[in-house]
Amino acid sequence: MRALTFVPGSKGTLEVREVPDPEPGQGELLVQGLALGICGTDRELAEGDYGWPPPGEERMVIGHESLGRVLRAPDGSAFSPGDLVVGVVRRPDPEPCGACRRGEFDMCRNGRYTERGIKELDGFGSELWTIEAAYAVRVDPALGELGVLVEPASVVAKAWEQIERIGSRAWFEPRTLLVTGAGPIGLLAALLGRQRGLEVHVLDRSPHGLKSSLAEELGAIYHSSSTLEDFREAKPDIIIECTGAGQLVIDSLTTTAAAGIVCLCGLAPGGRAHRVDAGVMNREIVLENDVVFGTVNANLRHFRAAAAALAEADREWLGRLITRRVPLTRALEAFEPAEDVKAVIDLTA
Ligand SMILES: [Zn+2]
Ligand SMILES: [Zn+2]
Repeated sequence: MRALTFVPGSKGTLEVREVPDPEPGQGELLVQGLALGICGTDRELAEGDYGWPPPGEERMVIGHESLGRVLRAPDGSAFSPGDLVVGVVRRPDPEPCGACRRGEFDMCRNGRYTERGIKELDGFGSELWTIEAAYAVRVDPALGELGVLVEPASVVAKAWEQIERIGSRAWFEPRTLLVTGAGPIGLLAALLGRQRGLEVHVLDRSPHGLKSSLAEELGAIYHSSSTLEDFREAKPDIIIECTGAGQLVIDSLTTTAAAGIVCLCGLAPGGRAHRVDAGVMNREIVLENDVVFGTVNANLRHFRAAAAALAEADREWLGRLITRRVPLTRALEAFEPAEDVKAVIDLTA
């Protein structure tokens, strides 16, 4: 079979190669790979920024945003041939730590977890892949190709779960949400905000165009800006920060309403210093009972919540998030930087 492989830590090694077909182990599904979503993590892996091959291997299969069709399922599993499935990315650390022992491997405490396509486990960028039935998540067949959005949506579903758990520390009836960054994660966070009936604002530095129309079609208000100037007066109850841009992160900490929640889910390179009045920031957070927290990754519960949220969403809108589709034969094109929302590799072409 063909697989999109790379040498972790070495730039320019990404290529489609012929590799042996995988054999499902006990309790595993054999899956035909249909689509693979590409995100910033994959581009960083391809650049050699990080990544860890399986023990004893040099190359590994890339890809963590999966979609496939079950070809073979073990007897007694909850799956049958033909089911559309997505694979959970992370596996518990071998120890396991307290969080991993309880199925909360997204909150692993010792960093020894493994991840498909990133850390010590082959990813999903191949014509065939296998997965433990316990880490496969069924996708509504009506979603079809859009199932490839389940993984990014799982990150957002976890963020929302955490926001709601934090909110439940006291009376919590949020009304307004600001999402900074209108990439796939930001737009999916806005979608889940609208599904909760919130007034949603989406801020991105892009001028009006595809991103603004996607936000507006959700019923959100789009702000083409790179500062939080517009929110000085009417401060949002919740901010989901998806850019990781230093100044936006700093400003978001003092731009929520009282008892505000700032959820940080963006990443950006460091190395740029910002001037901060720590006293003012501290004062704001203390006197308003604000919470700032970071979130990454997702466990099984969040994948299921994501699959359910997408099944409820408008399919035409979800389809417009996928702005680039390339066949596996030309997979490298999906890694070229572009102003699109989500690039997807068709593993069947
Ligand atoms: Zn991703
Ligand atoms: Zn752990």
